[in-house]
Amino acid sequence: MLSDTLNRPLRNLRLSVTDRCNLRCEYCMPETDYVWLPREDMLHFEEISALVDLFIELGVTKVRLTGGEPLLRRDLSTLVRLLAAKEGLEDLALTTNGTLLAEQARSLRDAGLGRITVSLDTLRPDRFVKLTRFDELERVKAGIEAARDVFGAQRDSEGRGQRGLKIDAVVIRGVNDDELSDLLEYAKSMHAELRFIEYMDVGGATRWSPERVVPRREILERLALHYGIVEPVVEETSAPAERFRLPDGTTIGVIASTTGPFCRSCDRSRLTADGLWYLCLYAATGLDLRGPLRQKAGPEELKRLISSRWRARTDRGAEERLSLRERRAFVPVASLRRDPHLEMHTRGG
Ligand code: SAM
Repeated sequence: MLSDTLNRPLRNLRLSVTDRCNLRCEYCMPETDYVWLPREDMLHFEEISALVDLFIELGVTKVRLTGGEPLLRRDLSTLVRLLAAKEGLEDLALTTNGTLLAEQARSLRDAGLGRITVSLDTLRPDRFVKLTRFDELERVKAGIEAARDVFGAQRDSEGRGQRGLKIDAVVIRGVNDDELSDLLEYAKSMHAELRFIEYMDVGGATRWSPERVVPRREILERLALHYGIVEPVVEETSAPAERFRLPDGTTIGVIASTTGPFCRSCDRSRLTADGLWYLCLYAATGLDLRGPLRQKAGPEELKRLISSRWRARTDRGAEERLSLRERRAFVPVASLRRDPHLEMHTRGG
């Protein structure tokens, strides 16, 4: 198994298939204009597939398609079909804002997509518009309903119940922190597991400030006030979400990347839509795989590049951010314009 300097395996690959998005969430893409990746640099499906083959040979077992908004990538189900057929890939998932999901859920499932996560931060139409700049709440809800029908409760190989559908909500103080139980009741009605995400100071979060973060502790306290005792679910996992159980048996996740980072067990890396490989959400630079691939580097040479970069990995980006005394938005807007790869929507959240 390929391990880095902290003994973390290369296991989990997040594949951004586009840097474009059709929403402008204030915690991710709050600016009025963006510098996009050049179209000619975008990896073709065959190129993505060839790189995924190498990553699988080096130990990756889980792939998540993301973006930008992945459902904006034309013929995405063709890519899903290519990836789903790969031996050794145990988990193929996708994260979406849900706006285009009603039309695509069935074809994605038929192509072999295993699990889906929809981002939804509010159930109030006026808030949704304020938060995302688009009046799309009803389409997102239609997308979640379609996903419930095709990805709903599933069984794993040992017959245990599994959730094929998750809903992720970024919690921001003064924006949606009064909707925790509403979101949870909605997720339950959709047979989805809800995960609350702490607001992170990643690339695009130019409006981030520590005061706007609702920490895990407070999220759990608020849920306990509403539902009663909230107990941790004991499990061995490298997943970012810690899971908790409410008195009625409902489980929820909390992703405490800001106040309780999990760098020590982070087995994630990210490939941008133009083929740069990043080992940390907070990394300043990535490894260019598109260049060598297009210059016809052979598989062994590409694997050598990937494995030597992973072996040397020391990143603990979120922990380093936590140790700062003064913490403000991570990247100034001018730097984001100079290098769009610093953006969360380019790197794939
Ligand atoms: N467009 C898709 C979506 O909306 O799910 C996929 C890409 S989006 C960048 C992936 C995830 O990153 C979303 O769940 C989003 O809420 C999360 N995200 C973006 N900016 C964030 C921030 N500043 N803090 C925490 N999560 C963030």
